Amino acid sequence: PSWLLLTLLGLLMAYGGHRVLSRRNSLTTELHRAVEAGEFVPFYQPVVQGGSGELAGAEVLVRWMHPVEGLIPPNQFIPLAESSGLIVKMTNQLMDKVQADLLGQVKNLPERFHIGFNISAAHCRSMELLERCRDFLKPFPPASIVLFLELTEREIIQATPLTDELFKQLDNIGVQVALDDFGTGNSSLEYLQRFTVNALKIDQSFVAKADSDALSTHILDIIVDLASRLDLFVVAEGVENAMQRAYLEKRGVEYMQGYLFGRPVPFADFIAAHVAPTSK
Ligand code: C2E
Ligand code: MG
Ligand code: MG
Ligand code: MG
Repeated sequence: PSWLLLTLLGLLMAYGGHRVLSRRNSLTTELHRAVEAGEFVPFYQPVVQGGSGELAGAEVLVRWMHPVEGLIPPNQFIPLAESSGLIVKMTNQLMDKVQADLLGQVKNLPERFHIGFNISAAHCRSMELLERCRDFLKPFPPASIVLFLELTEREIIQATPLTDELFKQLDNIGVQVALDDFGTGNSSLEYLQRFTVNALKIDQSFVAKADSDALSTHILDIIVDLASRLDLFVVAEGVENAMQRAYLEKRGVEYMQGYLFGRPVPFADFIAAHVAPTSK
């Protein structure tokens, strides 16, 4: 009879739903534990100057060093860290670790070394981020470090009046803002006016097809033109081969990032590969 079927179905769904819920709960518990245990570590990917290929800075990309599972990439835990509110604490810890790493090498780094953090919307809802950025910059000699906050359009869309104020203040202390994955979200060019954005990071999906797919190439060209008209600089993400690099260089893209120049790696490896003079 149909009622029996429906009851069975209901039970199944309740069971399934419960399982999903408890899995989510246990992963959240696991995230809490990991934050307390300091298992989130910064990896560094080089950002280079378009023309010369010289090191300009690094983007910090978080990795979860799980004691059993090993290295877990951000896409697998950032969404839950965001929805559970843990992202703020996790990012603050990350900033502390990066500060310590950089302090140990600041004399060897190129001047005005760019260091970029990916920032979630939750972090933009209080003025605490301003204090965090101040604290981050405090111990460095002037003009040694330039702090970048990378926000996607998803973050910007959730902005409140307080966010406007926050970005004004961040601009006052010289913190730079880059719009990440530019061109992929529900972009509203209004945001470029409303906030003091300093840079556009062209999404790797356009870079991947640069000079091969007409539409991607047009989009890429338009973003570069838009940036130059608005006095923003451009960072191309996901540069993997010399052809892409040549095209971006021809277009005058200021900064590039991608496997062609280096993958995200732990700090010691980053320094060895990109900063320390190659002896041996
Ligand atoms: P994103 O900020 O756009 O970072 C760029 C992603 O592209 C990174 O993936 C990087 O490893 C990858 N990538 C770089 N060069 C290349 C390339 O040449 N080819 C290809 N195929 N990929 C390249 P990753 O490290 O897995 O990070 C994924 C996303 O997770 C990031 O995208 C960012 O949105 C988020 N994320 C990473 N760390 C953090 C963090 O500390 N906080 C927050 N809120 N989000 C983070
Ligand atoms: Mg980024
Ligand atoms: Mg990106
Ligand atoms: Mg991304």
